[in-house]
Amino acid sequence: MLMRRRISIILAAVCMAAFCSCAFVGTNEETAQKTEFFAMDTYMSVTAYGESAQKAIELAKDEVQRLDKLWSVTDENSEIFAVNSGGEVSVSGETAQLISFMLEMAKRTGGTLEPTLYPVVKAWGFTGGENRVPSGDEIQELLKNVGYEKVSVSGNTVTIPSGVMLDTGAVGKGYASDKAAEVLKENGVDSALIDLGGNIVLIGSKPDGKDWKIGVRDPEGDGVVGVISASDCAIVTSGAYERNFTVDGVVYGHIIDPKSGAPVDNDILSVTVIASEGRLCDALSTALFVMGKDGAITHWRTHKDFEMIMLCKDGQAYVTEGIADRFEADEKHSEMKINVITG
Ligand code: ADP
Ligand code: MG
Repeated sequence: MLMRRRISIILAAVCMAAFCSCAFVGTNEETAQKTEFFAMDTYMSVTAYGESAQKAIELAKDEVQRLDKLWSVTDENSEIFAVNSGGEVSVSGETAQLISFMLEMAKRTGGTLEPTLYPVVKAWGFTGGENRVPSGDEIQELLKNVGYEKVSVSGNTVTIPSGVMLDTGAVGKGYASDKAAEVLKENGVDSALIDLGGNIVLIGSKPDGKDWKIGVRDPEGDGVVGVISASDCAIVTSGAYERNFTVDGVVYGHIIDPKSGAPVDNDILSVTVIASEGRLCDALSTALFVMGKDGAITHWRTHKDFEMIMLCKDGQAYVTEGIADRFEADEKHSEMKINVITG
């Protein structure tokens, strides 16, 4: 429960920043239609404007809840659960696409995004069960079944050895946010903000034509470190502060380094990724967090298909050149050094 409360605080911070400049003036004021719900183990909301907004947000919510049922790791009736029993498993086209995307991103990120980490994530108690610190031997044993190369997808058939298990936690919400955006657009919405547990997709700009303002949460305190002005894009943050537990003063976060099987503890506090699609942002934010500052910068220089804002333990922000002039530090963090990463 503590974990969920923490997430709702993060969400509140994000939403506050998202809407703080939405005070409309004049006669063109449009009413926001908003739906809030719990899915994929987190709080979600969809806000849309325009005549078709009311119906569209309900359809978008239905879509996310449908995907949650399909992709839940713990629901015995889900397709991912079926895949995790091993063998050759036939799945729907969209589940095959999700798995293919996760494998592709695992390859691209050198296995820092590791879709088969589920047994290790479970051992730490991050998906169901109680949080605990597994022994080194237990982790080494579990790591024998970890490795995205062990899984293959051909058409709608997934082939996976017994004991290897997929975890959709790092990509599912981002993927679902793109699907929700498609539903809104198909239903005539051209101004909306989707927030699936901090996985943001912005459709168009605000009804007044201005950019949305999205807060980047302070990983070490309450409130935001700064605000991103953006439209028509996705924004996703990964950070160990989102879900963690403490034993003997050591904080264990929910993002695991696949090499060691232990929670990541490097020079990054949080990484926010901005790109055209939620799925790319979600996969990358997790992977870049594992890579650490230098690895993340190298990855950006190699691909350049996303922008990022890294908040690091040295108290500084590292921001890629394409987003630098759209990121403004909050007054409380006006002293923070912002380094611009260039190509
Ligand atoms: P959140 O889903 O909390 O916003 P992320 O997108 O960063 O955060 O995903 C973290 C989740 O992904 C973890 O809770 C776990 O289920 C899973 N996970 C943890 N480490 C990795 C990793 N290195 N690669 C892939 N999935 C991971
Ligand atoms: Mg992610």
